[in-house]
Amino acid sequence: MDKRFETQVINNEILEKLSLANRYNFLNENLSLILTEKQFNFLKEVQDFCLKFERENKITHGPDEDVYDWYPRFGEQGYITRQHSYECIDLNYKKFGMAMDFMRILALDSFDPQFTMGSGATVICINPIYEHHENVLERLEALNELVTGKTPGCLLITEPERGSDAVHMLTTCEEQGDGSFILNGTKIFNTNAPKSKWAVAYATAEKNNGNLMAQFLINTSWEGWNCERLGISWVPKLYLGKEKLENLRIPKEYVLGGIGKGREHLFEGLVPERISIAVRGVSECWGALAHAIIYANMRKQFDKEILLFQGVGFKLTDLMAKTTALTHGVLKFCETYDEKMEKYGNKLPESISRAFVALGSQYKYNCALLSKKVCYEAANLMGGAGLCDNTLMQDYLNISRIQEIIGGSRQIQNFIMSRNLRYQFKNL
Ligand SMILES: Cc1cc2nc3c(=O)[nH]c(=O)nc-3n(C[C@H](O)[C@H](O)[C@H](O)COP(=O)(O)OP(=O)(O)OC[C@H]3O[C@@H](n4cnc5c(N)ncnc54)[C@H](O)[C@@H]3O)c2cc1C
Repeated sequence: MDKRFETQVINNEILEKLSLANRYNFLNENLSLILTEKQFNFLKEVQDFCLKFERENKITHGPDEDVYDWYPRFGEQGYITRQHSYECIDLNYKKFGMAMDFMRILALDSFDPQFTMGSGATVICINPIYEHHENVLERLEALNELVTGKTPGCLLITEPERGSDAVHMLTTCEEQGDGSFILNGTKIFNTNAPKSKWAVAYATAEKNNGNLMAQFLINTSWEGWNCERLGISWVPKLYLGKEKLENLRIPKEYVLGGIGKGREHLFEGLVPERISIAVRGVSECWGALAHAIIYANMRKQFDKEILLFQGVGFKLTDLMAKTTALTHGVLKFCETYDEKMEKYGNKLPESISRAFVALGSQYKYNCALLSKKVCYEAANLMGGAGLCDNTLMQDYLNISRIQEIIGGSRQIQNFIMSRNLRYQFKNL
């Protein structure tokens, strides 16, 4: 019996049909029409790897497995991130960009949603190093280790007293004569931190002053880094940290953005972060729907497959129609983003960048809401089987509720979008 669960609830026939291969087949059947050949081929490539990895390593997704052990194998294949080609560290991926990363996430999320969420946190550590390595050897080495899965990474923005109000931070950085900095303060809720060799952190030269923020790359083995794990029971396999930075010295090679640059760097990272959360949101919808649709086609009550009862079948079609529409929208966003990044050589003009911020918020907001609804309703349509630990449904349910908080809460997305409405009105 599959080690994922102690007691089998779902019968063998249905469990077999719920295999990763069948869930991929369901996803592919629904997406092949709208994907380009290149996108579809990459999706299949990552799926094939996940299938092989699951089979060869006898992965059950049970509670005893450490998803951080999987990093090196996925890293070797270039499946930690595909947002860029990473020529600067001689990786030269041919298939890259937001749309390709969408395919990577779609494949990974059906394989293991907790692993996918954790690797998303590594990507938000990678992005600022990629943007600001300036060919400094130490930064390129860190970038290489992160992109190739030698270690997870983490991003330190949130503090115990500064969550949504991230720019008024309390962690301080004091510039030393030799270009190095000393950091002091406490950060919290940082995904992967207890397992990461590298962290990217923000601090300010004056408490509460967003204009004086700076950005740093930290090797977590340095003196002054004190990290303890905090528990988020909805993602029991992920390690989140609370870090006390005590007189932590950052050599000048590791200063990604000096005083005054931090705020700009922080905002620059938010669009790819939010779009990745949106992509994970729709990926979770597909994962949950694949489970529920296969299950409802096989589970019988009142001597009929439950899909044939309108209360089940029509609800699934409603969830599916909404998921399809939003998937098309996010994909279009990703393709447009790639097109503009190529056209402007990765430096977007202010007006386009501003439009992407608003769109990124809209998609993050919508996808998080839809994922919460679809994952819950799909589990509900599986009855008790949707609540027990025999499948990945519990991961989908739990993670779909986290998406609304991370990368700026639902209310903060509303706030950003409403500010944009004001901006647009003023420009009439
Ligand atoms: C699982 C998980 C992973 C995370 N990973 C990371 C990470 O890797 N790195 C990192 O730096 N942080 C991370 N975070 C932190 C996350 O970004 C914050 O939790 C989030 O920004 C909210 O901050 P807060 O928890 O302090 O809530 P608060 O800011 O205290 O918000 C509490 C409530 O008030 C609302 N609120 C606040 N301000 C306003 C406003 N102006 N208008 C309307 N409503 C408002 C919020 O929407 C929320 O509902 C993670 C959090 C979780 C739970």
